Amino acid sequence: MFCNYRNCSYELHDYENGNRHYCDDECYNAEKLARSKDNYIRKKKHLAEIDRIEALLRVCHNKYGDSLTDINVLRAEKMNWSFNTGQTTIDGLAFFVVGSYAYRAFDNSTIKIINIKKQ
Ligand SMILES: [Zn+2]
Repeated sequence: MFCNYRNCSYELHDYENGNRHYCDDECYNAEKLARSKDNYIRKKKHLAEIDRIEALLRVCHNKYGDSLTDINVLRAEKMNWSFNTGQTTIDGLAFFVVGSYAYRAFDNSTIKIINIKKQ
C-alpha cells in the first residue's frame, strides 16, 4: 500500500504498521490541506454555477414574467437542471428554487418562472 498523500509515492510496508495510511504527520497534514483546497474550489464552482442559473432565470423572467415560457429558451442558454437551492410549493405545485427564483417545467415543454422574493 502506498502513502495516501497524493504527491507522495512512498510505499508503506506491512511490517511498519498495518493500519498506517501515511508516511508521517507531514504527509498526513499535506493531504489534509490539499483536500480542504479541493473542497474550497468545489464549493466556489458550485456557487458560481448557482449564480449562473439564477442569472439565467432572472433574464428569462424579466423577458416573460410569470407566464408559461417555451422551455427551449432555457435549454438554449445551457440551463443546468441538476442544481437548485431548495424546493417550494406554489398554488399546490412543486417548484425548484434557485436563489430568488422558483421554476417548474410542465409536460408540454413549457416552464414557469416565479420571482419568489417579490411575493
Ligand atoms: Zn508520504
